[in-house]
Amino acid sequence: MSQNVPITVARGDGIGPEIMDATLKIIKAAGARIDIEEIEVGEQVYLRGVSAGIEPSAWESLSRNKVFLKAPITTPQGGGYKSLNVAVRTAFSLYANVRPCVAYHPFVDTKHPGMDVVIIRENEEDLYSGIEYQQTPLMMESLKLISRPGSEKIVRYAFEYARSNNRKKVTCFVKDNIMKQSDGLFHKVFDEIAAEYPDIENEAWIVDIGAAKLADTPEAFDVVVMPNLYGDILSDVAAQIAGSVGLAGSANIGEGCAMFEAIHGSAPRRAGQNLANPSGLLLGAVLMLVHIGQPEIATAVHNAWLRTLEEGIHTYDIYAEGVSKQKVGTREFADAIIARLGQKPEKLKAVNYSSSPASQTRTKAPKVEPTVSKELVGVDVYLDWSKGSAEKLGNAFKQVSGEGLELKMITNRGAKVWPNGLPYTFCTDHWRCRFQAPEIGTKVEPTQIISLLQRVHAAGFDCIKTENLYNFDGTPGYSRVPGE
Ligand code: NAD
Repeated sequence: MSQNVPITVARGDGIGPEIMDATLKIIKAAGARIDIEEIEVGEQVYLRGVSAGIEPSAWESLSRNKVFLKAPITTPQGGGYKSLNVAVRTAFSLYANVRPCVAYHPFVDTKHPGMDVVIIRENEEDLYSGIEYQQTPLMMESLKLISRPGSEKIVRYAFEYARSNNRKKVTCFVKDNIMKQSDGLFHKVFDEIAAEYPDIENEAWIVDIGAAKLADTPEAFDVVVMPNLYGDILSDVAAQIAGSVGLAGSANIGEGCAMFEAIHGSAPRRAGQNLANPSGLLLGAVLMLVHIGQPEIATAVHNAWLRTLEEGIHTYDIYAEGVSKQKVGTREFADAIIARLGQKPEKLKAVNYSSSPASQTRTKAPKVEPTVSKELVGVDVYLDWSKGSAEKLGNAFKQVSGEGLELKMITNRGAKVWPNGLPYTFCTDHWRCRFQAPEIGTKVEPTQIISLLQRVHAAGFDCIKTENLYNFDGTPGYSRVPGE
């Protein structure tokens, strides 16, 4: 018998303590080999003035144990409070958010009886970098960052997850017809890694039509991997249309640390009444047991839970006349599961977990970047300017060209407005002016850009930022504009 695994537990707020008690009672009864260390997070910590809702001593426990089972917390109303989830996710690089979304037809009402989808969301990059600026009175910017190692880690995780959970297909959702650089990279990496898993089917969808298909025919999907923002939105959609938002658990996986939770909140109105359904947190704990190398305990707990569901023993939130047999409270539901440990469901599909996909991916570092030649070929100069038309700006700004850098075009919100712009294009105060060598693609020197910026300043223009234009192995590493 292997040693106990130390885990950090937070009982959270609202219904948190009740569903955590139920969850721990069930997994201990199933023989989970864990040592529990409790920390306090959430509302009371926020109200003591700790902005992320977690004390330094709690960070120390998480750093030591590296496994966190967290009940939902209440974020106090009003500004100034940082998300605890984001704080833990970023501090420990929890790059993969895993959310199984399963229908339990006919025992829980659903529009999609055959649904059994796992959403794997990239958790660290994309628009969640939190890098934002106000650049002009009229314009805000949020940076969308997608890296090769970040994409490799999440895509490989998805394929490893599929393999070790006996899943047949991995689908990727991106918007690379529009974001050719960022989502284009995610898609490219997906294709590269998919080729290493010939036993698993793969496909890519544009996220808009993919989302429509997922909402309409979720049975067509198996494992779906996507960048952060699409995953944030679609993992909630998927959990909801499975008919069981209160039943879903999730895992946030990093290379050294992992956090497991229910996807719902602290339901303060239901707190302290022995009403809450502990299933979401319990399924989070099942994912945790797989992660810490106790898949046999995870299997026993999950199957006993499925058996309880199909015997019609339901908490109020899923109780339905004609389907359910017995309405129970949190504690009674937990006891019913414990009484069924060792049993399998008869109608719902039984589970059988093997080892953790996380432990397998940990051995595979992202591939080393291929050697690339990188050549500076120009610069985009962004201006805050509100003194007239695009034509007027183009004619006035042409004068700063020189020393081997020419003004080639101006865009406003991405639309080309100079030269030969249309008078109908709406323009804000935020302009992008592209400077390149007279022969586009020819190498330029950083000193040419520095002189250009001096001329921009001397001519009285307000430069708010610049972006260098590079060719990588001869291919432009920047978006081009139709008509450029
Ligand atoms: P919620 O998920 O707490 O509740 C939504 C609805 O679902 C309510 O009607 C609630 O009674 C019901 N419900 C949720 N979980 C249930 C369960 N286990 N059993 C039975 N019924 C359940 O969402 P909310 O009301 O928008 O948020 C309440 C608080 O939770 C807020 O402070 C919010 O910030 C926080 N929250 C925390 C997390 C987290 O810690 N991960 C996630 C979401 C919301």
